[in-house]
Amino acid sequence: MSIKVQEVSKHYGAQKALDRVSFEINEGEIVGFLGPNGAGKSTMMKIITGYIPQSSGVVEVNGLNIEVHSLEIRKQIGYLPEHNPLYPEMYIKEYLEHVAAIYKLGKGKKSRIAEMINRTGLESEQHKKIGALSKGYRQRVGIAQALIHDPKVLILDEPTTGLDPNQLVEIRNLIQEIGKEKTVMLSTHIMQEVEACCERVLIVDKGSLVADRKMDSLSSNLNSKVFAVEFEKEVEKDLLKDLKGVLQITRSGLNKYEIVAATDIRKDIFQFAVAKKLVILEMKSQTKNLEDIFHELTAQ
Ligand code: ADP
Repeated sequence: MSIKVQEVSKHYGAQKALDRVSFEINEGEIVGFLGPNGAGKSTMMKIITGYIPQSSGVVEVNGLNIEVHSLEIRKQIGYLPEHNPLYPEMYIKEYLEHVAAIYKLGKGKKSRIAEMINRTGLESEQHKKIGALSKGYRQRVGIAQALIHDPKVLILDEPTTGLDPNQLVEIRNLIQEIGKEKTVMLSTHIMQEVEACCERVLIVDKGSLVADRKMDSLSSNLNSKVFAVEFEKEVEKDLLKDLKGVLQITRSGLNKYEIVAATDIRKDIFQFAVAKKLVILEMKSQTKNLEDIFHELTAQ
């Protein structure tokens, strides 16, 4: 077990930022950490990395209790905080040397820095000061510093926020590459990112864990079908409920309905309309994706 979080709560004064959150992350997993703004994601990541203490509950990283072995755990964790604090006046190498010194990297320091520059694709920019780098390259520097001491666990707080689509793909590929050999927990607002990179997703809302799902179970259980149907005139919602296999019906506009079902019921909808002498003006089917699930679980 790489990360074990048991009943963790955090209060900032009177405000409860986390409320008895529990989850475990296995070695080698890439886990997406999702939630609306203010849900408690950064707070949880700061607690796991030993930057702030929890108010109650237990956190273990690689079998070590964070309250007892905070320093040892920091050696085993790489952390990219939300706003990627860097020194703009420093050159990339200079900054990485500074971080390497903090981690007391000895003899192998030079080759490790060169390796990190290469690994994160910073070679072409390495002569520049950090302040002169684009946001995408700054994120690479942030990831390089998080990896410099070869940690087993990587915690990335919104690593792709503010990147353009090309930079986003590059950083995403880099995370996937890193994930082949490390445990990665990353928070993001981008659902495609989780779908593309992560094996599992944890969703928090208002300080509580509302979902802990494997991506493959999401696709079989939650990839239910949504049928957007427009009739010529209004239809009683109760009538539509008689359709076989219907899970949920929502009115989405004038004479428009969203019918959620576990299977493809387009034929049933058509036969229902014929039997009730209803005219269908339009019918579209779509598969529920992570974004829909996120909205369902975290809607106010
Ligand atoms: P997220 O990362 O999901 O956006 P945060 O963990 O940053 O959420 O914040 C969770 C809640 O805790 C928010 O309501 C936020 O305002 C509050 N919070 C975060 N840090 C502090 C702090 N240092 N002092 C007081 N409240 C805080």
